[in-house]
Amino acid sequence: MSGEQMTPEAAYEQRLQAYVGSVLVPGRPGQDPVNVPMIRHWVEAMGDVNPVYLSAEAARATGRDGVVAPASMMQAWTMRGYAATTAPHDPTPFDELVALLAEGGYTSVVATDSEFEFHRELVPGDEISTEEVVESISPEKRTGLGAGRFVTTVRTYRDASGTAVATQKWRTLRFRPAAKKALRPRPAVNQDNEFWFAAAKERRLVVQRCRSCETLRHPPGPCCPHCQSFDWDTVTASGRGTVYSYVVAHHPPHPAFEYPLLIAVVELAEGTRLITNLVGVAPDDVAIGMPVRLDWLEADPELTLPVFRPVTDRP
Ligand SMILES: [Zn+2]
Repeated sequence: MSGEQMTPEAAYEQRLQAYVGSVLVPGRPGQDPVNVPMIRHWVEAMGDVNPVYLSAEAARATGRDGVVAPASMMQAWTMRGYAATTAPHDPTPFDELVALLAEGGYTSVVATDSEFEFHRELVPGDEISTEEVVESISPEKRTGLGAGRFVTTVRTYRDASGTAVATQKWRTLRFRPAAKKALRPRPAVNQDNEFWFAAAKERRLVVQRCRSCETLRHPPGPCCPHCQSFDWDTVTASGRGTVYSYVVAHHPPHPAFEYPLLIAVVELAEGTRLITNLVGVAPDDVAIGMPVRLDWLEADPELTLPVFRPVTDRP
């Protein structure tokens, strides 16, 4: 590579893409040939009452030579059973690809798509084998389950003469399970206080003000406790305040919070008080009357909240 170093990401991509076109599972025969007892169990379990699967007479009345297997059983004829899949064996190319995906963090799997194309109906006595070839491995995609890669393979089902009886395009998502971060409990937002949370979302700490007597109030409410007026607007707080009171919460722990958790009543320079969290300070260093200033916590994409930290610089 004439002095150029390949990034680890590019090297990984190359190893992954090397599987495209390769045989993951070589032509592997099923345990039993197509047979009536298995068809009987299948149609009973599925509640499929089409007579062409069990009655030779009914099948002949449709122009067939005799009974046929339901198309939906195709995969069943090539399944090896629980014992075979759990028996010790040398790693197959399939095992190796799964290990390589796990190396990239894609440890979870979910089937996303199965597209069958049937070329002829199966009849009792058919011996079916299947071969699986990798068609594509997508770049990493963001999905609701987590970042992952779509692995598409083509399975070809063949009879004893090697003639293809069906092909199946099989797509799975191999993904990195998204670490679910616990969210802070949702505040009880209602028509009387939604303006306050909407302003917080824009990083503005507002205080409700009576338009009749100009008294400030918090928490928000529809009516002025001083003059009973329902007419109000807001002022934007300076962000300066002092610790009026505080507690250090240890229990019960909630996964959205870090402990010890400092919960304080901060008195704003404007005169109203609010319940908030103190940040950037150890519990032992908090003192009543301590000057604090406003900061913002982006708790999650839906929730921005005011928090307060000690004033460190002397004015
Ligand atoms: Zn008032």
